[in-house]
Amino acid sequence: MNRALTLHSVHDLRLDELPEAPLHPGEVRLRLGAGGICGSDLHYWAHGGVGDFKLRQPMVLGHEVAGTVSDIGEGVDTLRPGQRVTINPARPCRNCDQCLSGHANRCRNVRFYGSAARFPHVQGAFAESFVADQAQCFPIPDELPFAVAAMAEPLAVTLHAVGQAGPLLGRDVLIVGAGPIGALCVLSVRLAGARRITICDVQDAPLMVAAKLGADRVVNVSRETLDDLEVDAALEASGSAAGLASALSALMPGGTLVQLGMFPPGPISVPLGLAISRELRVIGSFRFAAEFGLAAELLSLGRLDVTPLLSAQFELSHAADAFALAADRSRAMKVSLVPDVH
Ligand code: ZN
Repeated sequence: MNRALTLHSVHDLRLDELPEAPLHPGEVRLRLGAGGICGSDLHYWAHGGVGDFKLRQPMVLGHEVAGTVSDIGEGVDTLRPGQRVTINPARPCRNCDQCLSGHANRCRNVRFYGSAARFPHVQGAFAESFVADQAQCFPIPDELPFAVAAMAEPLAVTLHAVGQAGPLLGRDVLIVGAGPIGALCVLSVRLAGARRITICDVQDAPLMVAAKLGADRVVNVSRETLDDLEVDAALEASGSAAGLASALSALMPGGTLVQLGMFPPGPISVPLGLAISRELRVIGSFRFAAEFGLAAELLSLGRLDVTPLLSAQFELSHAADAFALAADRSRAMKVSLVPDVH
């Protein structure tokens, strides 16, 4: 049997004993090394849904994971048992118009770990053991901690957002929201050659982490204003109407807004008139495609240091404590889950 962290309803998280999933040709079975708790896992746990996706049946959470190959299916030729990998949680169909035009992140039939976008839901990877297609697995060096390797997923989200922003070499950039995604945006925006990076939030603790990661200026907008700021690009990673309004106001004429924070369900009110008079480009950013391989490589080569984000590690059987800590922005950024030591 396989113990898997299953959400039954709001705040009802159980370590259920589930049968092992069958191993199809081209697939591998993985043993969990570490998994990061994401904002969307927290939304499912606290509200029973994320955006427009509602929990309708018990679902194993988790999609930011790294681990070890334990078994390989027929026809697997790129991986061997014992290999350490970080795992892309997305399995696009490779057949729809979006996949065929190189936008697998917009796949119309994607299967994504721990997501209620489809019914039956796609089960997640916070489990002692889970299955992936070999193409989802990216080998990592022996010395790379699993918790760091699991950060490839959120890092890929921010690399994609930077791509959506267009060239940032020598540009001034505002990042709204200093949660794990906003903080990782600091690294990705720096990598793209930005001149000056400002990041804002309503809490000090995440801003201190963003400063450690290289932000030039941190602004707590609960105390200070962004009035004097004018930037070429803004990355909105808070998913709030107030955050989006701040981002739009800070953009110079001809600037670009990238929206990657997930809004709460339903309509929101924003001052979009600014987009007309300043001829702003407003563009969405959803997950990632080929950026996952780049993220895995940057972490494997030690090119980016994500360790300031890693707050704490809990065994799966203490997941309730892990989720409670992860939900407290004053105390935690990224909380990782690891299998129980028996
Ligand atoms: Zn597709």
